[in-house]
Amino acid sequence: MDLLDTLTAKGLRGEVPTREEALAVLATTDDELLDVVAAAGKVRRRWFGRRVKLNYLVNLKSGLCPEDCSYCSQRLGSKAEILKYTWLKPDQAADAARAGVAGGAKRVCLVASGRGPTDRDIDRVTDTMAAIKEADPAVEICVCLGLLSDNQAERLKAAGADAYNHNLNTSENTYGAITKTHTYADRVDTVQKAHGAGLSACSGLIAGMGETDEDLVDVVFALRELGSDSVPVNFLIPFEGTPLAKEWNLTPQRCLRILAMVRFVNPDTEVRIAGGREVHLRTMQPLGLHIANSIFLGDYLTSEGQAGQADLDMIKDAGFEVEGAGEATLPRHRADIAEAAQAGGGCGTAASACGSGGGCGPCGGHSHAPAQAATDAPAAEEPEDELRSDLVKVRRRGAGTELAPNA
Ligand code: SF4
Repeated sequence: MDLLDTLTAKGLRGEVPTREEALAVLATTDDELLDVVAAAGKVRRRWFGRRVKLNYLVNLKSGLCPEDCSYCSQRLGSKAEILKYTWLKPDQAADAARAGVAGGAKRVCLVASGRGPTDRDIDRVTDTMAAIKEADPAVEICVCLGLLSDNQAERLKAAGADAYNHNLNTSENTYGAITKTHTYADRVDTVQKAHGAGLSACSGLIAGMGETDEDLVDVVFALRELGSDSVPVNFLIPFEGTPLAKEWNLTPQRCLRILAMVRFVNPDTEVRIAGGREVHLRTMQPLGLHIANSIFLGDYLTSEGQAGQADLDMIKDAGFEVEGAGEATLPRHRADIAEAAQAGGGCGTAASACGSGGGCGPCGGHSHAPAQAATDAPAAEEPEDELRSDLVKVRRRGAGTELAPNA
């Protein structure tokens, strides 16, 4: 297929495809799916070999958020029966993080619900990072606290944070349909603040909220322009008790096409399969590893993932290997850009532009999103016949509970 030959050639050179080529990936048929995966796999192996980076989520503060992100089980008015608790103490968070690191995680993601942190919250996270790094100085820490105010990113950087997560989630055009309490521009601003402070930017999207193919391509190109070093691809988990509970628009094949499109647009960027992996890719998860080079280990923020050992077995069985603490994730030229940005205190992007931001990141799949209901945009694909709510399992173990995590 000419399209895939073109995309492969561009990806191997680290070039970004055209918007039309990205849209064409989403329009491929199921008969072409393995060819799409194989083409994206060549690009993935060119820049990331057979390594899989493991990330581990620690939900520092769960539920009771005043924001109204429609995809989120922690949102204002959510009836989802998730765990609700206020800030974990540093030693509690460090214990949770230790389980993930022991399971093979290279990065720990510290997440708290809420619009954004107070300066006191930054102090709490500073203490938590110190406790984690005391136990394991090599662990990468990504912080996800929502919208940042001036100087908070600098404080997190000085306290030892390596990265900041704030997802754009969906296109600028549809953002107002999923959230009313903050804007797409707010999200862009926070990503820029994090980048400007020298933190690695982790920013991604949620698919399956009723968005169009054009929306997906828009947000993925926006993330490339922002210079996100890591792009988490969440697949909406339609929690009962949230506005998007009935949004079952994804098939495993659709998820793989979306991952491939994200890979072609971000050939040399970390692409992470985030929340919804088990729910939507299901038995096709190993094919996702041929496209993405990063996943979460074990559970998500408010929902359960498959057992951490099952993640490790899947990686091994599929012929991949867990990325070690001493191995660089990004290719050298991307790492140089990131380091230059950190040294200069400015945003450094692969594609030159910088920008983006947002509230707390739903990476880790506590989400649901409502774009279609609010915009009347046509679904990109026929929904599945069944609402597979039986696949959504609320997290009842790990951080905030007396039970051990499943990492
Ligand atoms: S995504 Fe973050 S800001 Fe939005 S409702 Fe959920 S916890 Fe709150």
